[in-house]
Amino acid sequence: MEFMSDMLGGADAGKPSLFEIVAQHKMSELLEPALRHVTSVYAHRHPRYLVRVLNWHEEVYAALMLLVERHYLRSYGGSFAEHFYGTKRVRTRTIGGSSSLTRADVWRSLVLLVGLPLAKSRLDQLYERLSGGEAARLLGGAFSGSGRPVETAATAAAGRQTGIRRRLAVARAAALRLFERYYPHVNAAYHMATMLYYLAYMFDRTDYNSPWLHLLGLQVRRLSAADYRAMSERGPAASSLAAPPNGSVLRATRNLVARLLTGGLDLLKAMLPLSIFFYRFLEWWHRSDFHRKIQQTPAPPPPMPPRPHPDGAAVPEDRSLCPICSQPRTNPAMSPSGYVFCYPCIHRHIADTGACPVTLAKARPADIRKLYTEV
Ligand SMILES: [Zn+2]
Repeated sequence: MEFMSDMLGGADAGKPSLFEIVAQHKMSELLEPALRHVTSVYAHRHPRYLVRVLNWHEEVYAALMLLVERHYLRSYGGSFAEHFYGTKRVRTRTIGGSSSLTRADVWRSLVLLVGLPLAKSRLDQLYERLSGGEAARLLGGAFSGSGRPVETAATAAAGRQTGIRRRLAVARAAALRLFERYYPHVNAAYHMATMLYYLAYMFDRTDYNSPWLHLLGLQVRRLSAADYRAMSERGPAASSLAAPPNGSVLRATRNLVARLLTGGLDLLKAMLPLSIFFYRFLEWWHRSDFHRKIQQTPAPPPPMPPRPHPDGAAVPEDRSLCPICSQPRTNPAMSPSGYVFCYPCIHRHIADTGACPVTLAKARPADIRKLYTEV
């Protein structure tokens, strides 16, 4: 591992190794389920507001990440995960000698970082619905699930309508059919392209770690000593949001709010990875036996047998004797109330009277349990 990363980074000190790139991608992939998990844990306690958040989780998460990524791209020139791993994005073609991101680069990066995962998740869900979900995949085409009915319903609806609406419905059904047919191929091509870029990146054939970054003309590079110096000089709260010093109260307030907001976003650098660890810990916790052992309260002791009824048969001092025949028990058997007799004695008694001979509680012959104390 050590050798590989040395070898891969060796040719170009500023080029992050593939391991760093993969770690960054993994981290951004993990953030969403981690935050969802944390939210769902708290939604149990405050269902009034958080359940709504949970229902719109993907949109809320996208909005949050838009804010976070925009801040990190503008302040540090890299996405949240990239900055966390000490890297940033630089332009391949410099403008006026500077390779730092322009406003347009930031927005394009945001589309890539936030818009693309949201769109892909939505398309995945649509495909899942059209293809009949998990069942269809496991059982093959014979189990068409909800996929066909959606289409046939659309076609049937098209048959009833006239004119433009009808044409629209037909077009929609055709589009859905095309989507269902080709989406898996597009998906496979997407993953294949990502994989090929990884391979090419690893063997130094390209400096772009993904096709998308290639398209945007952006590379991910390690932060240099100069970058760190510039960051510490600016301080964590410095950003383009900070207004120039001015006497106006309104401006001072705006400045303060901006500083607080930026400070909060910088705090996320510690909070978001923590939520991942928290999520991983909970995942492990629920899978492991530990929580079951701790949560398990010891089983309550079995209840004592009910007291003998004054009119019932007396229980002999010697507990090895049968209360009915007062002889050592043969073939011991227990009445439902817990007293032990010879099997023939208790069976006959319960069959005749329908009650336990000691407690006089109701009993049926089927309730008698034999004891296997001796072989
Ligand atoms: Zn007996």
